[in-house]
Amino acid sequence: RQNHTRLPAWLKTNIPIGTNYNKIKNDLRGLNLHTVCEEARCPNIGDCWGGTDKSAATATIMLMGDTCTRGCRFCSVKTNRRPPPLDPHEPEHTAEALSRWGLGYVVLTSVDRDDLPDGGANHFRETIVKIKQKAPHILVEALTGDYSGNLDMVSLVATSGLDVYAHNIETVEALTPYVRDRRATFRQSLSVLAQAKRAKPSLITKTSIMLGLGEKDEEVIAALRELRKPEVDVDVVTFGQYMRPTKRHMKVTEYVTPEKFDEWRRVAEEMGFLYVASGPLVRSSYKAGEAFIENVLK
Ligand code: SF4
Ligand code: SF4
Repeated sequence: RQNHTRLPAWLKTNIPIGTNYNKIKNDLRGLNLHTVCEEARCPNIGDCWGGTDKSAATATIMLMGDTCTRGCRFCSVKTNRRPPPLDPHEPEHTAEALSRWGLGYVVLTSVDRDDLPDGGANHFRETIVKIKQKAPHILVEALTGDYSGNLDMVSLVATSGLDVYAHNIETVEALTPYVRDRRATFRQSLSVLAQAKRAKPSLITKTSIMLGLGEKDEEVIAALRELRKPEVDVDVVTFGQYMRPTKRHMKVTEYVTPEKFDEWRRVAEEMGFLYVASGPLVRSSYKAGEAFIENVLK
């Protein structure tokens, strides 16, 4: 756990509870869905689940188990080369549960499954197809891994009927080998984002960058330029503070100030991103439903 006494004031938060929060939480009981929001005790749960407009309420669901075949130095998910097999009923059950839950926007994410020949892409696709059959009103964002650069798997997910394809570059190119699992590269991640757009040009694509890992301003700008190149054409970027999950994970190099996060928002907006979320507590799924409704649907 973070040592709270050493955190700057802007990172010490109480979880604010909106009007929708209790309703969504009650509905969740008995549905057997694992939300990252609850399991990671995300400080944004009041913002994402709360508010008065339920059609904009956002939650993040973890698919394909709790054990990842990779080990990134910032991530607290447990690692094993041979995780248990996939639950073949998960796509159906997830769609069924979400249709009863009544949320407006769901982010589906998963651990990386390098042990499976398709990296779990077919399972991911099936889950999205079933959600869209059972609950077509729900907007779906998939936050996927890089499928080890197998772009056919990216296309499978991108053409499943989802609304937003997200894949996180996590950090600048120079720090990637120190921050992410060695099988993940910055260029491979750009190719995933580019392929999602190529497979379905009307898709919104999205990525996320953690700050506070020792990145230099010019490296962040270079990363944003790569994302905005016409052949990659990422629409949405989010910036958040890296928080060290335990002492076994990478140290925080810097607590970036809220003013600096505001500056990154302005810089990215000027570079032509469709929308940008930037703040110390922002995570890639932060209020994603509200942002989509305000920036894409209107
Ligand atoms: Fe859930 Fe993501 Fe919002 Fe946190 S930021 S509450 S994980 S949807
Ligand atoms: Fe965590 Fe994703 Fe890295 Fe796995 S691939 S260790 S889930 S960040």
